[in-house]
Amino acid sequence: MPDRRTERPRAGIAADLSDFCDQAMPAPGTMIGPDAALALVLRKAQTLPARRIPLAEACGLQLAEPVVADRDYPPFSRSMMDGYAVPMADAGRTLKVAGEIAAGEAIAASPLPGECYEIMTGAPCPPGTEAVVPKEEAVRERDCVAIPLVIEPGQHIAPQGSECRRGAIVIERGAAITPLMVAVMASFGRSTISAVPRPSLGAITTGGELAAAGEDPAAAQIRDSNGPMLSAMAVAIGLAPPRTLHADDRLAAIRAALDCVADRDLVVLTGGVSVGAYDLVPEALRQYGAEVVFHKVTQKPGKPLLFARRGPQLVFGLPGNPLACHLCFHRYVAAAARQLAGQPARPPSLPGRLTAAVKAHRLRTFFATARAEPDRAAGGGWLVHPLPGVSSADIFSTCGANCYLEVPPGNEEVPAGSSLPFTWVVDPP
Ligand code: AMP
Ligand code: MG
Repeated sequence: MPDRRTERPRAGIAADLSDFCDQAMPAPGTMIGPDAALALVLRKAQTLPARRIPLAEACGLQLAEPVVADRDYPPFSRSMMDGYAVPMADAGRTLKVAGEIAAGEAIAASPLPGECYEIMTGAPCPPGTEAVVPKEEAVRERDCVAIPLVIEPGQHIAPQGSECRRGAIVIERGAAITPLMVAVMASFGRSTISAVPRPSLGAITTGGELAAAGEDPAAAQIRDSNGPMLSAMAVAIGLAPPRTLHADDRLAAIRAALDCVADRDLVVLTGGVSVGAYDLVPEALRQYGAEVVFHKVTQKPGKPLLFARRGPQLVFGLPGNPLACHLCFHRYVAAAARQLAGQPARPPSLPGRLTAAVKAHRLRTFFATARAEPDRAAGGGWLVHPLPGVSSADIFSTCGANCYLEVPPGNEEVPAGSSLPFTWVVDPP
């Protein structure tokens, strides 16, 4: 049982960030609230310096330079249809087809009077073209074609520069790069772009009880589930799969693992961060030279969460219990990763209507796994079904969760029908 006396919101528990200023970090051993903890994490998470990134890896990153058109687009007056390129004066006439202009070909001279070119979509219109008559609207007989009487000037032609002008800023610095923007940059001949990179992540699992992947666990062992989960969570937020190491519960092993990920922007450790005799992560971090910013947060699950910093590297000691590990990555590590990448740190929280009562924790904010779905009967909003696990190790009855409910501390049960904030952990349905 946790010692409730150490959790009381009196001196020693800072409820929010206004309790701190930049210089004054929480006193060692002070337990802080989840909002204060998140604010401290974000305060330390400085956007990474921009670097040149291959275009193929740029999607989702924050652009660090304006993207400027290298020439007019289209660079020539382009046919938008397969058809016939004609001047307006040829409306209603029958013309001889002098040849074809395929996409990628250019014809420098106008056709002779009484003649025209068949033109393909994407090909440059020959000089003198005022309209393109789609193939379907012209009557072709051998090498002659009858042009309809009614045609519109400029029809099915994209004039040179009508989409953008050479020198125009088409994408502003700071944009979040999308696949359409990648297409624009490729059009402008860019193979690299200046952008804020994704942070790199190292993950260290700890615990002598963990069987390595592919090994049969002994009777007192379990398989490592946090390592694969953290990898999946990293990939889900756009990071590269982390370098993942395992250390047993020895100081030297944890230290050695930390040294292996010293070049990473972010490091997460799981397990060994609490008060057990073999919880050696805090000491290993001290020896590694990391400064602990806070240790312990008034939340459930995830009370033992530790956050430290070593130079620009941010280090998170996540509890080993899988749900605590999941919540802490979702709420703190992912937020830091987004902010390092120059993106909005916090996914918005939405109000959801409870379909069943939830029991609040007396002194800690309870982040309850839940499943949200559109509230069709109410014609809008979200219904949220709490998915209570039996413990913060119980991923089995909670793995269908798509969100976390945030239940403020209190003595009362929060009844069905109440509104509580929730955040998505996967894409909304
Ligand atoms: P700890 O935080 O090290 O005290 O671990 C708390 C609980 O989480 C223990 O029951 C551990 O066996 C379990 N645990 C720790 N690490 C992992 C992991 N990587 N995968 C699954 N369970 C773990
Ligand atoms: Mg452990």
